[in-house]
Amino acid sequence: MSNCAIVGINWGDEGKGRMVDLLTQNYDIVVRYQGGGNAGHTIINQYGKFALHLLPSGIFTNGVVNILGNGVALDCENLWKEMQEVINQNVALTPENLKISDRASLLLPWHRDLDSLEELRLKDKKFGSTKQGIAPFYSDKYQKKTVMAGELLYPNQLKAHLADLLEWKNQILVNVYGAKPYTLEMLMEWVDTYAEKIKPYICDTGLFLKNAQKEGKSILFEAQLGALRDLDYGIYPYTTSSNTIAAFAPVGSGIPCAKIDDVVGVVKAYSTCVGEGPFTCEWFGEEAEALRQAGGEYGAKTGRPRRVGPIDLVATRYGVETQAATCIALTKMDVLSYMDKIPVCSHYLLNGEQIDTFPFPTALNDTKPVVGYLDGWKCDISHIRKWEDLPIQAQQYVEYVEKAIGCHIGYVSVGPERDSIILRK
Ligand code: GDP
Repeated sequence: MSNCAIVGINWGDEGKGRMVDLLTQNYDIVVRYQGGGNAGHTIINQYGKFALHLLPSGIFTNGVVNILGNGVALDCENLWKEMQEVINQNVALTPENLKISDRASLLLPWHRDLDSLEELRLKDKKFGSTKQGIAPFYSDKYQKKTVMAGELLYPNQLKAHLADLLEWKNQILVNVYGAKPYTLEMLMEWVDTYAEKIKPYICDTGLFLKNAQKEGKSILFEAQLGALRDLDYGIYPYTTSSNTIAAFAPVGSGIPCAKIDDVVGVVKAYSTCVGEGPFTCEWFGEEAEALRQAGGEYGAKTGRPRRVGPIDLVATRYGVETQAATCIALTKMDVLSYMDKIPVCSHYLLNGEQIDTFPFPTALNDTKPVVGYLDGWKCDISHIRKWEDLPIQAQQYVEYVEKAIGCHIGYVSVGPERDSIILRK
């Protein structure tokens, strides 16, 4: 029995989904422990191509139990739609292989409205929210102004609770934003249409996990986004509204006493970032467009072009430390094959001084990247499955990154498919 967390080291979109899809075969249970439908994992396997937003990536593996933990933003509407997409591709989803924590809080219809209304109010100072209601949801959760999934099993109390929340929330919708108020009928219709559908999957997942641990079962914790988007340790306020780091996995999963043996940190072979905020290594113009095209860097949820640049070793080192990664999966190496020389940002310049530690978020605005170059390999590596078959320049790139970030690179991914991976001792 051993537990593992698969987490993002950078700004998200590192390829965590493909790593979870690969490694679930070795685990009994996969748990999503934070976030909501605001980002997506892209997975390509024998069932087809999927952009999962809420469902744990273990749903494609027979015998694996998938859990949405108490830390997630439970968006019933999107979850139900996503479940249908997966079921339509002949993937079995039953209360046996999908369990939703009774302590997960519900993302209510007004959370999405408030996200859009607030971005509208901010105008050019907006954060680049995906408008999935995540920030309003988590602020309400911490104000104790939303409902837990388990309350769906107590309909009378649920209706009274929703009526109380409605009275409060309408004041904000109407008086702060000049928006239309909700009625209790509208909310109850939403409950009937979406929340009722997920009821069969709701249970005490904390108890389930405790018993599973006693039986020696192994757990894979699956994160969304990356270390630099963590609410407490990321580039605040351009973070997400939850904790993406591995240390939060047991808390957000329902088994706070769980020990995590391995933390697989996923790093992309170059940098990408979605939305606003400081991004020191950013490329612009033709150089950026070429990399964006080569890597297909368009958001899984929004289709937005991602900001791109060379690998940022300063930010990556910080991400590795913050995640307490024990092993790294370096993804999308194949994307760099077109480059004559491979750019790497080894340091930042801040007020004329060279630094190699990740600075306070406000100072990031004044940082400039110090970029060096390694030799490119200029050939297709996507078919390669063994370390010794990689061109020497590609090996040197991996070894250089490994040394700079101080963590062993155990996996080199050369394509999106499950088997496009090189295991490295
Ligand atoms: P996640 O949220 O961290 O799972 O990342 P995303 O799914 O948003 O982005 C990763 C994208 O890269 C997906 O489209 C994957 O299919 C794709 N991908 C993952 N690993 C590789 C790789 O090694 N090579 C290539 N070419 N694509 C990859």
